[in-house]
Amino acid sequence: MKIIAYLYRDTQANQAKLPAWGRSLDRLYEDWGDRPQLEQLLQDCQHDPPDYLLVQQLEDLGDSAQIVSDRLHQLEQLGVSLITTTATAEMGTTEQMLHLLEHLHTLQTQQRSRRIRQGHARNRIKALPPPGKAPYGYLRSKDRYTLDRTTAPVVKDFFEHFLLYGSLRGSVRYLHKKYNKKISASTGKRWLTSPVYRGNLAYHDGAVVANTHVPLLSREEAAQVDRLLRRNHPLAPRTASAPRSLAGLVQCECQSSMTITRVTARSTAQEYLYLRPVACPRQPKCRGLAYAQVLEQTIQRICVDLPRAVATTSMPDVDGMKQVLSAEILAKQAILSQLPDLLRTGVLDDETATLRSYTLRTDIAALEATLAQLPPVNLQAIAQTVSLPQFWLDLSEAERRFYFREFIRQIQIVRDGVDWELRLVFVF
Ligand SMILES: [Zn+2]
Repeated sequence: MKIIAYLYRDTQANQAKLPAWGRSLDRLYEDWGDRPQLEQLLQDCQHDPPDYLLVQQLEDLGDSAQIVSDRLHQLEQLGVSLITTTATAEMGTTEQMLHLLEHLHTLQTQQRSRRIRQGHARNRIKALPPPGKAPYGYLRSKDRYTLDRTTAPVVKDFFEHFLLYGSLRGSVRYLHKKYNKKISASTGKRWLTSPVYRGNLAYHDGAVVANTHVPLLSREEAAQVDRLLRRNHPLAPRTASAPRSLAGLVQCECQSSMTITRVTARSTAQEYLYLRPVACPRQPKCRGLAYAQVLEQTIQRICVDLPRAVATTSMPDVDGMKQVLSAEILAKQAILSQLPDLLRTGVLDDETATLRSYTLRTDIAALEATLAQLPPVNLQAIAQTVSLPQFWLDLSEAERRFYFREFIRQIQIVRDGVDWELRLVFVF
């Protein structure tokens, strides 16, 4: 008894595992996307028909009910019994099978959705944008996203504002005020983290394909955005966007966090800022501290402590890691650029080249993401600059907050009666 099987898969991207046919086969024909092997199978059956042909489901035989029906007739004439392995258990004769054709119109609906799925998978492999509207700031052209000259500057400005002030809510408000463009904080967060604005395409299965269009956020900026978002995370949302540079950073000796309060002296209408513990467990309670003094002390301390901290910290060999990752990216980009030649000279066929290019671009995106997670390599160089008091005094409070957060995780107050000093906890 001769048994053959035919296996059909939507695309090469759909690497479904091989079905268990439940018996040993004389031959397996396999197709992806198109059906050249099915044609071969039917031809082979003309000379040497098998007793049984196994398929997973009827619609594997063609893309429309008409084609499936034609193939069933063909098989019947050749005396081949068809067995579907997933639909209805075992069907005896091809004749019985033909009755199923009455129901084939429902199949056509399935075929349609399968064709749509195939389309999506093909888009992904060719690095075409996923279906739907282009994200704000972009337009959809034939095969890629292009910058929308009216809206792209708005997104760009939003990113620049965030990079300077490090405040999601602040940047959302800024957008509304300057452009009358209202977005929610969660949309803002999505913009900041979206692969699309970084020039990559992301698909709903999580795959990211790199460098598919012009980015609105450079790789360096994106890395900085990621660092800021990570740093803002443990802070309460309001402190992250508060205008004061020390907001959310200071912790009292009693472990309570400290909040900034304003006190206006009635006689002079002058405003004084104080730092007070939010929930002090002590009796009597820890005293408030003058904001200006804490700020001054913080600047003095950072200028003394930062160079020391940087010198004694055994930084991972970031530079080395960056070089390795960059070299890997370059190597993959080099292969990518050779693909057109390999295609032209016939070394690779179209499908293989497309698939290879897809894999390479996905790998590159993953490597670039790893690269972006590494700390800035020039920490030593930066530490030199930011160890001069003048550097800090020249900054606005917003800029100062930005730089504080690049380095300081916490400012701890150590008290000795009414005297106090502070200790800096660095982020690295
Ligand atoms: Zn206290």
